[in-house]
Amino acid sequence: MNIPQSSNPRVVIIGGGFGGIALAKKLSKKDVQVVLLDKHNYHNFQPLLYQVSTGGLEPDSIAYPIRKVLQGYPNFFFRLAQVQEVKTDTKRIKTNIGEIFYDYLVVATGSETNFFGNKGIETKGMAMKTIPQSLNLRSLILENFEQALLTDDLHERDALMNFVIVGGGPTGVELAGALAEIKKGILPKDYPDLDTRRAQINLIQSGDRLLPAMSKKASEKAEKFLEELGVNVWKNIRVTDYDGKRVTTNAKTIFEAETLVWAAGVKAVGLKGLDAEQLLSRGNRLRVNEFHQVIGLDGVFAIGDVAQMETEKFPEGHPMMAQPAMQQGRSLGENLVRMIEEKPMKPFVYKDKGSMATVGRNKAVVDLPKFKFQGVFAWFVWMFVHLYFLIGFRNRLVVFINWVYNYVRFDREARLIIRPFKKQNKVERHNLMRD
Ligand SMILES: Cc1cc2nc3c(=O)[nH]c(=O)nc-3n(C[C@H](O)[C@H](O)[C@H](O)COP(=O)(O)OP(=O)(O)OC[C@H]3O[C@@H](n4cnc5c(N)ncnc54)[C@H](O)[C@@H]3O)c2cc1C
Repeated sequence: MNIPQSSNPRVVIIGGGFGGIALAKKLSKKDVQVVLLDKHNYHNFQPLLYQVSTGGLEPDSIAYPIRKVLQGYPNFFFRLAQVQEVKTDTKRIKTNIGEIFYDYLVVATGSETNFFGNKGIETKGMAMKTIPQSLNLRSLILENFEQALLTDDLHERDALMNFVIVGGGPTGVELAGALAEIKKGILPKDYPDLDTRRAQINLIQSGDRLLPAMSKKASEKAEKFLEELGVNVWKNIRVTDYDGKRVTTNAKTIFEAETLVWAAGVKAVGLKGLDAEQLLSRGNRLRVNEFHQVIGLDGVFAIGDVAQMETEKFPEGHPMMAQPAMQQGRSLGENLVRMIEEKPMKPFVYKDKGSMATVGRNKAVVDLPKFKFQGVFAWFVWMFVHLYFLIGFRNRLVVFINWVYNYVRFDREARLIIRPFKKQNKVERHNLMRD
């Protein structure tokens, strides 16, 4: 990998997400050599992916070059590499660009969509965890409307305009709200020759309330906001399968829909060599102690979504969210330096700063540790917090301008089919479109 030998210990971080970047920043001025490996050369601000999927933002305004985050630090090295295996016995990591030795390894590989083994949903449904997936979804949504214009079959037309979103967490709620706003504000103008009032947005939640990790008031209000926007909220229903056209559930309800978005679960991204059963907990997460050390492995640490630190307050581990990942990255940075300096490490304590979700224009719900509020003010708070945590001044500026523009104009101008998406069962249709 052409990384110079150093007299300082080498910390290899796998993953430049919220946790990995926070850690690398903390270590950047210390006497350690930091090597960050990521299969992408950018940091992905996942909380705004749904806005890319729905044409509200361009993808490059929520991505940031990892190299730029740590420019100018002589001890920092980035390599664009897909990690394939960790060999803990020899302290080596195998990647698609070669092998590298570590003194300390930090796994910060995040999480991926969990389809719970359902192949139908995995192959025919859409996930929204990465920027390419969000662009695929954006293309599919727009392609469906283009196709709906072409068909005389009313049944097929309805299915093309029928959206099923599975999972009533923040991702499902935010996506459903954004689609409903498009239906109301944009589709009638873009497709005047199509009866877009027939478009349906269905949000399906297996439990008895939306946003189950938030307060009851936030759940109720989010549901009310969605209903005001015309979203059909289905609770206590579990989706059991999808064949690309028909969504089956454990109730009698069946949905004919050309688009199913699966936002109903995530699991940690595992690595070969760190997959022994005794290392893993629920959801494939690596069990760590209060110093982020992977239990049972020397010199290996894990932070963020991939790490499960079971504490009295969080017996299931910390929530798989950006805040815990960033706090863990900073805490581990401090502890690694303390360890190298042979000082005692400090146990990690998560400071819950609250959670929030937006449903649409002037509609959001915010739960802070001391206050809970919903509506217009919550929406401004949501926007401010997301702008604050976005990496890069340009990104903040671009997102801010886009939001102001979209707000004033009731618009989302990034509704572009840049790279057409081919769902497996839709090859024929796309060939037709190309002609
Ligand atoms: C749609 C969506 C909306 C969300 N909204 C919110 C929100 O509003 N608020 C909130 O707090 N959280 C939200 N989250 C969750 C939040 O994004 C995650 O909890 C957070 O990204 C976890 O950070 P992390 O550092 O553990 O992993 P990530 O940020 O996922 O980073 C993992 C990195 O590891 C890299 N990687 C993985 N495997 C390999 C490999 N084998 N080789 C090399 N590199 C690898 C990836 O490319 C990635 O860059 C949302 C998530 C999604 C998907």
